[in-house]
Amino acid sequence: RSPLQPAQHAGLPAPAALYGNSRRNSAGLDLAVPEQRAPLLAAVAALRATGVPAVHEAAAAQAAAAMATLAAAQHAWSEQPVGQRAAVLRRAADLLEARSAAYCALLAVEAGKTLPDAVAELREAVDFCRYYAAQADERLAEITLPGPTGERNTLRLHGRGVFVCISPWNFPLAIFAGQVVAALVAGNAVAAKPAEQTPAVAAAFTALLVEAGVPADALALLHGPGETVGAALVAHPLCAGVAFTGSTQVAKIIQRTLAAGDGPIVPLIAETGGLNAMVVDSSALPEQVIDAVVRSAFHSAGQRCSALRLLCVHEAVSDGVIEMLAGAMAELRLGAPGELATDVGPVIDAEAHAHLSRHVARLEREARLIARSPLPAAHAATHIAPVAFELAALEDLREEIFGPVLHVVRWKGPVEALVARINALGYGLTLGVQTRIDSRAERIARLAQVGNVYVNRNMIGAVVGVQPFGGEGRSGTGPKAGGPNYLPRFCAEQTLTINTAAAG
Ligand code: NAD
Repeated sequence: RSPLQPAQHAGLPAPAALYGNSRRNSAGLDLAVPEQRAPLLAAVAALRATGVPAVHEAAAAQAAAAMATLAAAQHAWSEQPVGQRAAVLRRAADLLEARSAAYCALLAVEAGKTLPDAVAELREAVDFCRYYAAQADERLAEITLPGPTGERNTLRLHGRGVFVCISPWNFPLAIFAGQVVAALVAGNAVAAKPAEQTPAVAAAFTALLVEAGVPADALALLHGPGETVGAALVAHPLCAGVAFTGSTQVAKIIQRTLAAGDGPIVPLIAETGGLNAMVVDSSALPEQVIDAVVRSAFHSAGQRCSALRLLCVHEAVSDGVIEMLAGAMAELRLGAPGELATDVGPVIDAEAHAHLSRHVARLEREARLIARSPLPAAHAATHIAPVAFELAALEDLREEIFGPVLHVVRWKGPVEALVARINALGYGLTLGVQTRIDSRAERIARLAQVGNVYVNRNMIGAVVGVQPFGGEGRSGTGPKAGGPNYLPRFCAEQTLTINTAAAG
């Protein structure tokens, strides 16, 4: 036990006390406790029987009409004191927790999540609501600035107008919720466009927000294709800002659309893809490496932006690590989402399955197969078996591959040269480091152009308020979601200067 314990040492409350971080204190969600998992399993079975509720798709014209309605409602919402808006988020967190079984079932049935992934995502969504409520109280309060005698200067942050929030399918609750509640608590009206693959969970959470107190005319949910509905929202002259999480390619399309219009200059907060590497040096502990690699590359069927794609193992230990990796991959259990025994669930849809299958087929021709997890015949059409290939050079992988496919390279020579090659790929989301030499981990972290570095652990992070998450380069614009700099980016700033010496 470390004698230092920094948070207590500095007299600061731990994050759990500050934000109610639900990883520590949320009740009713522990899969290891039979009475707590029973309602989750029952909710999954019930939803499988009824099917996921259908939603109505919007047309581009409806998106435009919604923007006008939202703009008209924004002022009244932003006039509410920030504490009242924050209270709405806290009520939303409470409602989410109270309905956790139903939300986890939706995540399993609509998005194909394993139960541990569904539970973790539900908690992340709860955390976003509580964290941004606390941040709003702290960061959006009016600041009095020092000034000359006879003058009062104040800095205020306020909503920008209508914020467009566009989200992906791989965290259809947490990312959708995080964007939308941040934009709302900052005083914006919100047009939300969830991913086509996961509309029902977004619909449920939007209804919950209105129940929690968001005025119905300040929040519009618009389902439909990104190319029509999403594009119409972004191109609309009333769009005052865009929060986008998804692929690098679509972020660039949105950036071009925003640049092309004649309207105001609006911010784009983009969180995009990654081509994430792990550097393993010759001092690393092999068991720890394998555990981190398997979790980072294959859990969630590799469908995390932070997932490990490129394992760089020092030549001196590479044979041993590769052999152990093959052994660990043989143990992974592929299965249906919503089953307790499943380690790896399906990929999101047939299109993703076909895309990944083509990539694997190419690697079968061009690279050396290391190992493939057993794929039960019943899941062949829906799952991609975790698979690892050895590449001749890390530059053979140029684009993000969004599934359970691991690319392995051996390296030797100075680690600085390896990090420079990883940086040159142009992405900048996560990096794993496995070493027993602390100074080397520090050096690698300083050289790496990435938003999130994980040393001697897996690369599954993004804990709200604890490990804020986001990348640079082709991986996004920042600021980090779940961090202290996020909310102000949803705001406009105004200084108010009053001549207090003026004759009244
Ligand atoms: P995607 O880019 O295909 O779609 C994301 C969203 O953009 C969807 O709602 C889609 O409908 C919309 N869209 C598509 N074209 C559009 C257009 N022309 N105008 C406006 N909106 C448009 O991404 P996806 O397949 O849903 O999600 C997977 C991607 O998301 C991966 O690249 C992953 O790395 C990334 N991701 C990043 C983070 C992060 O925090 N950095 C988190 C999760 C996912």
